[in-house]
Order: sequence, then C-alpha cells, then structure tokens
Amino acid sequence: MAKTALITGITGQDGSYLAELLLAKGYTVWGMIRRASSINTGRIDGIYRSPQRENTHRDARLRLVYGDLADGSVLNRHVKSIRPDEVYNLGAQTHVKVSFELPVYTGDVTGLGAVRLLEALRECGHESRFYQASSSELFGLASESPQNEQTPFHPRSPYACAKAYAFHLTRNYRESYGMFAVNGIQYNHESPRRGEAFVTRKITRAAAAIALGQQETVSLGNLNAERDWGYAGDYVKAMWLMMQAERPQDYVVATGETHSVRDFCCRAFARAGVPLTWHGEGVNEHGVDQAGRVRVSVDPEFFRPVESECLRGDASRIRRELGWAPEHTFDELVGMMVDADLAALSGGRRGAPSAGKRCSNAA
Ligand code: NAP
Ligand code: GDP
Repeated sequence: MAKTALITGITGQDGSYLAELLLAKGYTVWGMIRRASSINTGRIDGIYRSPQRENTHRDARLRLVYGDLADGSVLNRHVKSIRPDEVYNLGAQTHVKVSFELPVYTGDVTGLGAVRLLEALRECGHESRFYQASSSELFGLASESPQNEQTPFHPRSPYACAKAYAFHLTRNYRESYGMFAVNGIQYNHESPRRGEAFVTRKITRAAAAIALGQQETVSLGNLNAERDWGYAGDYVKAMWLMMQAERPQDYVVATGETHSVRDFCCRAFARAGVPLTWHGEGVNEHGVDQAGRVRVSVDPEFFRPVESECLRGDASRIRRELGWAPEHTFDELVGMMVDADLAALSGGRRGAPSAGKRCSNAA
C-alpha cells in the first residue's frame, strides 16, 4: 500500500525537494503550511497550485493543511487525522544570524516545535517514523575536523542551541519510547531554491544581477568562513534513506569538502562572466572586476556575534551503511545556482554561460 508522509516546512527549500521525491516514489504527501499575508507556496508551484492562484496543475496526492510548530493542538489534530507513516520535521526558524535577534522565538519553533510534534505522535499511538532536520551548527566551535557522529557539540548560536535541544529530544524519544526517531546532521545544502538571505544564494543572485547590469555591488560578512556545501536535491535522498533503514540511527550528511565564502564568490562571479580579483584585508577587502569596479565588499553588519568558522562533515557512516553519496559536485552546484539566477533575472532570455573561469586572489 502507498505510504503517507507529513512534512513540516514543505514551503521551504528542502520541503519542496522532499515532496517531489516522495510523490515520485508513490507517497501521499501532506504538507503543513503557515498562513501568510502573501503567497508562500512558490517553491511547490510545480506540484501544487495554491487555491489563491488559478488551479491549473495539481497533484491530488499532495495535500496542504494549515499549522504552526508553535501550536501543539493543531499538530495533535493533524497527526490524529492523517496517521502518517513518516513525519519529516523540516519546519524551523532557520537563519543563524536572525536567531541572535529572535532567540526566544527560535527556541520555541526550532527547539520546542520538535518536541510538540514528537508528543503529538506519542499520544496518537500510531506507529510513525520521525525525521528531525538537525544541523552541522550543533558542532559550532568544533573540537575536530572533519566532524562525525561522535564529535561533541558546541553550539554557537540560539539557532544551534535550539537544534541541539531538538536533537537530544529526538534521541530521547527513541530511547525512552522505542520510537523510530532519527536525526540527520545535515551540513549546508543549497540549490536555486535556497532562501536569498543565505550566503550562497545572496552571492549567486548578486553575480547574476551584476552580470546583467542590474546591480553594482554586493556587501557580505565573513569571507573566511568555510562551509561544506552540498546540493539540496541530494540531501533529501539521504533523509528518505534514513527513514527506510532497518534500525533508527543518527547520521552526518555532508560532502566532506569545504570552501570559503570568498571561494564561492570567485566561482559564482566567474560563472556569471565577471571574474574577480581580491584586494585589501579584513573589512577593507574587496573583489574587483576586470574593469577595476568593486563588485564585492565587506560590511560588518553581516558579521555574527560568534561564528562557526569551519564546518566539514565526515559522512562515512551513511555512505557505508545506507549507500548514500552526494551526486553533485561543488562546481555543479554553483553553476546550477548562477545559471538559474541569470535565467530568472533576464526573464529567460539568457542561456547558461560556458564553464566558469579560474579565480585569482591578488590580496
Ligand atoms: P527554509 O528554506 O528556511 O524553510 C523553512 C521552512 O520552515 C519553511 O517552510 C517555513 O515556512 C517553515 N517554518 C518556519 N517557521 C515555522 C513555524 N513556526 N511553524 C511551521 N513551519 C515553519 O529551510 P531549509 O533550507 O529547507 O531547511 C529545512 C530544515 O533543515 C530546517 O529545519 C533547517 O534548520 C534544517 N537544516 C538546513 C540546512 C541547509 O543548509 N539548508 C542545514 C542544516 C539543517 P514559511 O515558508 O512559511 O516561512
Ligand atoms: P549558516 O551556515 O546556516 O549560517 O548559513 P549562511 O549561508 O547564512 O552562512 C554561511 C556562512 O557565510 C556563515 O559563516 C556566515 O557568517 C557567512 N557569511 C558571510 N557573509 C554573509 C552574508 O552576507 N550573509 C550570510 N547569510 N552569511 C554570510
């Protein structure tokens, strides 16, 4: 019989890719969405047309219900009526820098939200498997590199602290009640659907807009920060695999390769046809194009009170036990993001450019 899944955060980057994957596998997918004053279902338009828009294309196996991770009663109601085989908890206040401004709200939604959902499942009594979207930010000031499932946590933001609470509660429900509840310790993963306030998408959009003459320059924060960036489409496959495993286990999901924000900039701008060289240091560092125009500068406004400087994951366990591996390289990821932004900003008039040029660092 076809399985039923419930996804929180279906309107987000990962939720949209996961919904597509599960529908392709024959699932009935229930997605929980928040009521918003403007349409927030843009990322799932390909598989669902919101009632606010013309109902031209709709997969009947995808159903949306209103709800919020801050509201336990609605979670109870949905779990009782849907009785899902699998629950993917992807909903969260996901932005690290914003979490310093909204620490209590982030704790409520990103941390307590997970336990509200776990409680709803426990009370319902229906045997559902539960996936918690945990984060490499748990490691924060990591004591070793690369990090694996045994590396101690040292969260460095309210977001990471909230994720740590949700991580431990997920493990605790597994150990206390025998639930199939697992954590995917996901490293950063990106795509053309990544939110524009995250650094990769901010860069690819700016590179495309600058290449098209629609923007002069972009300001960024810490150019030295390094991340292990993968492709979101690959990471939702890891989520699904973890939920099909024989026994519930937590896994690191990562590529094992890191790049700095500066390096991401170099590749993205080169791909857009605006190769950069770097000059200056610290807050005076800037990326300059071949005509000598400053295209990238540093603005301390984008610095964080503390930083997870270098996160690199060791995904050996999921590779070995579940056969997962990333299918897209870093260059392919940057390429697909820049090309998508070029196409979107040029109204589809511009095709993908050829392979990116090499980056140089003159500073
Ligand atoms: P995203 O694009 O920011 O999406 C977040 C989703 O959560 C959106 O659908 C959002 O709804 C929903 N949401 C926010 N507040 C909510 C609330 N109070 N109740 C219910 N839903 C709420 O995030 P993502 O990149 O897809 O990430 C998915 C999950 O993986 C998140 O939990 C994130 O923390 C975690 N994660 C992501 C990464 C990464 O690199 N992408 C890495 C590690 C962990 P609206 O659309 O209405 O805002
Ligand atoms: P995070 O790893 O979940 O915090 O994802 P982000 O994409 O928001 O940030 C990744 C890294 O890029 C962090 O170390 C940030 O400090 C760094 N960064 C540098 N400049 C920026 C910027 O302008 N915006 C964001 N969001 N991050 C930046």
